[in-house]
Amino acid sequence: MRRNTCVIAGGGPAGAMLALLMARAGVEVTLLEKHRDFLRDFRGDTIHPSTLQILDELGLAEEFHRLPHRKTHRMEIHTDDTTVPVADLRRLRSKYRYIAFVPQWEFLDLLTTAAGRYPNFRLLMEAEVLGVIREGDVVRGVRYRDPSGEHELRAALTVAADGRHSDVRRAAGLVPVEHSAPMDVVWFRLPREPADPGETFLRISNGHMMVAINRESYWQLAYLIPKGGFETLRARGIEALREPVAGLLPFLGERAGLLRDFEEVSVLSVALNRLRRWHRPGLLVIGDAAHAMSPVFGVGINLAVQDAVAAANLLAGPLAAGAEIPESLLARVQRRRVPPTAVTQFAQRVVQSRLIRPALSERARPVRLPRDISRLPLIGFLARRFVGLGILPEHVSSPVKSHQV
Ligand SMILES: Cc1cc2nc3c(=O)[nH]c(=O)nc-3n(C[C@H](O)[C@H](O)[C@H](O)COP(=O)(O)OP(=O)(O)OC[C@H]3O[C@@H](n4cnc5c(N)ncnc54)[C@H](O)[C@@H]3O)c2cc1C
Repeated sequence: MRRNTCVIAGGGPAGAMLALLMARAGVEVTLLEKHRDFLRDFRGDTIHPSTLQILDELGLAEEFHRLPHRKTHRMEIHTDDTTVPVADLRRLRSKYRYIAFVPQWEFLDLLTTAAGRYPNFRLLMEAEVLGVIREGDVVRGVRYRDPSGEHELRAALTVAADGRHSDVRRAAGLVPVEHSAPMDVVWFRLPREPADPGETFLRISNGHMMVAINRESYWQLAYLIPKGGFETLRARGIEALREPVAGLLPFLGERAGLLRDFEEVSVLSVALNRLRRWHRPGLLVIGDAAHAMSPVFGVGINLAVQDAVAAANLLAGPLAAGAEIPESLLARVQRRRVPPTAVTQFAQRVVQSRLIRPALSERARPVRLPRDISRLPLIGFLARRFVGLGILPEHVSSPVKSHQV
């Protein structure tokens, strides 16, 4: 049995970023990820200016920009009769004025490779956290299973960054408050050709919505369906998916025939929830484990990263110095992160109920939007600020104590 100062369950954006910051501060840190690699498709892959700024502060911006990526400077909605720019990031006051679309596994590889340059960092893949170790009321680490069997890992601080279905959160008896979401998302891909549109955009038409993400050689497509509607869609056969592709995106009409069956399709159940309490003595919950985000605005990765930065800013110094972490310090992380999370989720709920629910309803009417929302001064400012930087963006102030090997 090993002693660690910090053990993190979950190698998503929150866990990987926190592990890097802890390692950099000289904390003995172990990151446990239940999958064998980060190579999972169908996860969000938008890196917004706020996260690019954090990578810059960590000296990783150059390395990041060497990854295969595509820059998007503005977000557009395509309706039946017009194209509406919603957020023009070129007018943002920031060093980075675009969203970088990067396959999420590349981003996670970048963070864990950077963490691996510190001798006090350990990454355990295929390590599934099963529960927490308790001493009285205090969480003192985790129990996990890897291919060699079951193990215990003790730590001064345990962090649950294991996503929306968090096992650690459940083991600690924390239950989030659920808010309804009107949709689920069906993900699939189709080949892209040079003459296709270049931008990533949202297409809305009567009763249908599709996000088309340009990944150079192919389109990553997200078809929004009413909540719980996947089984009905599947029962109608693959034609039920080909039809809206051809109807919404005529340039993909013929290629829609390449979709052969639902084996090539993933469905993601959209959840929107938040814990009332993000901590227990010895345990902190961050990222989607503390607050599952709707895909609206595509900011879940960025909020997860911001949680990690806020947690490291407050906790890495004391942990590196070997101090006990009082629960009041964990409560400060929550206090710092609740306002941006709550405001973002409120805005997501407004978009879900005002735009998505009516657009997906059977009696949907043609969507009418002002021609150029981004040029209405206040809305334009709020949209680019909200999407680009978010509310109360974090900056790295955790110490650098460890030397890279
Ligand atoms: C359909 C959909 C589309 C989205 N699109 C976007 C987008 O374009 N941009 C965006 O910013 N956000 C998007 N999001 C939201 C975004 O994916 C999440 O908000 C973000 O990934 C949260 O990061 P996280 O690190 O908290 O959790 P996760 O990314 O969920 O990572 C959790 C990690 O923990 C691991 N894990 C789980 N249980 C255990 C265990 N017991 N032991 C060990 N490891 C475990 C998982 O394998 C996973 O790697 C989308 C969400 C949905 C549902």
